[in-house]
This record gives sequence, structure tokens and C-alpha cells, in this order.
Amino acid sequence: MKTVLITGGSRGIGAEMVRCFSRAGYRTAFLYRENRSAAEAVAAETEAIAMQADLASGQEILRAAKAVCNLFGDAPDVLINNAAVAGMRLFTDITDDEWERFLSINLSAPFRLTRALLPDMIRRKSGCILNVSSIWGQVGASCEVHYSATKAGLIGLTRALAKEVGPSGVRVNCIAPGVIDTDMNAALTPEEIHALCEETPLCRLGRPEEVAAAALFLAGPGGSFITGQILGVNGGFVI
Ligand code: NAP
Repeated sequence: MKTVLITGGSRGIGAEMVRCFSRAGYRTAFLYRENRSAAEAVAAETEAIAMQADLASGQEILRAAKAVCNLFGDAPDVLINNAAVAGMRLFTDITDDEWERFLSINLSAPFRLTRALLPDMIRRKSGCILNVSSIWGQVGASCEVHYSATKAGLIGLTRALAKEVGPSGVRVNCIAPGVIDTDMNAALTPEEIHALCEETPLCRLGRPEEVAAAALFLAGPGGSFITGQILGVNGGFVI
């Protein structure tokens, strides 16, 4: 049975990934930070294993990586670096602490978790890493410079690592969602949502399950010759 570890599985896109991979027959583990009841509900529904870990902490990442390897007996076949924080702030109002927090959760955590699990993937000459970036990492978003910078970093990490570990049989890809209907966009006004839909050729927000389906495709046999790619799941939003 294939195994998968998904970060940020308690809500939104990550929770749909947990459902989607579990339905497809994967043994699934996921990480969350603080929404224990939501995580327990996803775990009960899917029989996936929920583990609490704050991805801002390097030590907690290492602890979670070890726990997952013990659970599965090896590193997972598929690692999905999905968890992230977002927020709007004028560039000149971004504090050092906020900048560091965004970097640490959105970019350093995928680096640290991947670094912890990669040696096992290289040893067995197979593995799939999926990083969840964002359309804002591709085109930049006003008042989201810190978020956009971390998501652009994840694209660079993906492309470079794919070249480095391709010869070892490990694939590394990135999904760049457009605007998806999750808590992350809860602060947008109806007018802002309307404007974003107008910019999207498919004229609507995306659904978390549409991003999860793209991840399942990239992880599965259909993605076997795909690496180093950035797959937009964005309704045709112009990049
Ligand atoms: P979301 O609904 O806000 O959920 C975020 C998830 O990340 C939650 O499970 C949360 O855990 C977890 N998380 C946040 N900080 C964490 C930390 N320090 N340690 C561990 N877990 C942490 O987000 P989403 O909309 O599903 O987004 C998922 C991914 O898609 C993110 O990478 C995001 O940047 C990307 N994306 C989203 C959109 C969009 O429009 N929604 C667009 C482009 C890209 P808790 O529930 O425990 O807090």
C-alpha cells in the first residue's frame, strides 16, 4: 500500500487531499498545528493518522518526520508540503517577526521536512514530493509581498531539487493554485471575490477537491515522467 504525508491536513486544501488520497487507497498521515477537533474529524472520517506539529519549529518537524517513518516503517512514498500561512499587509508594515514567521512556515518547513525524509527516498530510489505554492508566487500579489516571496521560493526549491534528485528516482513538483474557496480567503469581501472571479476565465473560485485531484494525478502513474514542473490549478488565470 502506498503511503503519503500531507502537511496542513486539518482544513481546506490539505483536508481534501487527506480525503482524496485515503479514498484512492493510500495509507495517509497528516500534520496540523492547532485545530485539533477539525483534525480529529478528518482522521475519523478517513482513517488517516493525525499528528500535531508546529512547522515553525525545526525540532517539531524532526519529531514528526521520525514519528511518520516509524508509523510507515520508512519515509512516505509521497510527501505533500501543503501547510502555509497567508495575510495581507502593506510592505512597509511587515515586521521582522512576521517576515521570519512566513519564511519559516511557508518555505523553511518544506525544506526541513523534505531534508528529513529525502535520504530514505534516495536509498530506495523512489519518492514523490509535491510542494503547494500559489499563483501569487508566480505573478506576485499586492500587499502580500511576504506570502508571495515564500511561494516564489518554493517554486525555485522545486525546480532545483528536481534536477538534483531526478537521477535518484525522486520526482519533485509544485502545484500553484489560483483562488480556492477555503478559510485562507475568509477575509476577502464579496466585491474582492467578484473581482477575482472576473479575472478568472472559468469565472469562479476553485474548490479544494480540484487541487487535491491534481495532487493525486501528479503522485500517481500519470505523473511518472513529470518532474520539476509547476502545475497551475487556477481556472485559467493569466500568469
Ligand atoms: P487553510 O485553509 O488556511 O489551512 C492551512 C492549513 O495549514 C491548516 O491545516 C493549518 O493547521 C496548517 N498550518 C498553518 N500553519 C501551520 C503550522 N505552523 N504548523 C502546522 N500546520 C500549520 O489553507 P488552504 O487555503 O487550504 O491552503 C493550503 C495551501 O494552498 C497553502 O500552501 C496555501 O498557500 C496554498 N494556496 C491556497 C490558495 C487559496 O486560495 N486558498 C491559493 C493558492 C495557494 P491548523 O488548522 O491546525 O491551523
